[in-house]
Amino acid sequence: MAERIAAPVVSIYSLLYETLVVCPQCEGCARSAPIDGSTQARQSLFAPRRLVCSKCGHWCDWSADRLDRPWHVVPGEDDFFRLPLWLQTSCCGQTLWFYNREHLELVERYVTASLRERDATPGLKKQQCPESTPPLDEES
Ligand SMILES: [Zn+2]
Repeated sequence: MAERIAAPVVSIYSLLYETLVVCPQCEGCARSAPIDGSTQARQSLFAPRRLVCSKCGHWCDWSADRLDRPWHVVPGEDDFFRLPLWLQTSCCGQTLWFYNREHLELVERYVTASLRERDATPGLKKQQCPESTPPLDEES
């Protein structure tokens, strides 16, 4: 039986609560997240953040009242520390990237479903699905 999936109703910004990036010291996987782990901080783009590498222990902080550029200007780069995202790969001549595991799993479920509904969230559908993704099926 074909798996049918509704377009994810998720803003790309809501996935920024955590980003996995390449550690500038050891090139391992480092985590960037609000220092304050509260729900309010996780929902704010401008909550002070801390980058921590679990491999080498490197850490640094970020704080600002705005981002210097829209999220889609540099594909595959963290919007806060401007480091390469850990979860990225080359795909069809473009960079396929994900902020974190939830982001990856969300797109994976959508791309691998045999029946996809139209009107996906633009940030996910248009920016995250490779050009080679089969066309969307008509709703039946
Ligand atoms: Zn490191």
